[in-house]
Amino acid sequence: MYIDPHVHMVSRTTDDYRRMALAGCVAITEPAFWAGYDRGSAEGFADYFRLLTETEPRRAAQYGIRHHTWLCINPKEAEDPGLAREVLALIPGFLERPNVLGIGEIGLNKNSRNELVILEEHIELAKRHGQLILVHTPHLEDKLKGTRLILDALRNHGIAPGRVLIDHVEEHTVRLVLDRGFWAGMTLYPDTKCTPARAADIIECHGSERLWLNSAGDWGHSDPLAVPKAQAEMRRRRHAEALIRKVTFDNPRQFLSQSDRFSAEPPPPTAPDLTR
Ligand SMILES: [Zn+2]
Repeated sequence: MYIDPHVHMVSRTTDDYRRMALAGCVAITEPAFWAGYDRGSAEGFADYFRLLTETEPRRAAQYGIRHHTWLCINPKEAEDPGLAREVLALIPGFLERPNVLGIGEIGLNKNSRNELVILEEHIELAKRHGQLILVHTPHLEDKLKGTRLILDALRNHGIAPGRVLIDHVEEHTVRLVLDRGFWAGMTLYPDTKCTPARAADIIECHGSERLWLNSAGDWGHSDPLAVPKAQAEMRRRRHAEALIRKVTFDNPRQFLSQSDRFSAEPPPPTAPDLTR
């Protein structure tokens, strides 16, 4: 049994849902993110938020998987502050929907000034509405600097670190995140970010407190079965089942249960209005 706490199912097929369910996935959380192209208007985001809060939970329920989501405008599209503020204004209207856990994945991409301004406005929105936060950290050479900027912004706005998950940590950022009291997510990609073997190494070096694993499966080269593959890698290394369960089920459940909207129980039967 496992939870994939970061996966972009709007980009995936029903075959992926089926295979994830067969591999033991019981619950997922889907942050709002970049669609691979810049959306042209705030209306495009309103439609996306409807997809995340209406369609996708029904689709997941058909495979016995509980679907939750996070809302924001992602850092790649925050370069246009006018558009970003229109989207920020839409978000409160969706926060009461039953599968919404908080604000995410917010963060930085190129560590630009505009990105930082819009990041801070998202943090304030989360604070005003008492929401959990899920953070995207930049790639490669921008990651360490971006992670520091994000952690400082969260601290400056008085956000409790235990209510924030900092995602896409790697060997050079995991300690910084954990030492400041935040939760850390390791993203398992086939060739960038963390592989299952690197994730197992990080757990061996840094322990299992406040750490989770996710696939971040999306529209690019990625693997929606990455979490069960990491479980298999940990079993191959003779790690205890309790430790494997901790990082792939207990830890995400503990963090996410800070929202009373989270559940790893089977979804209630739905009438999936998906007839073609
Ligand atoms: Zn993502």
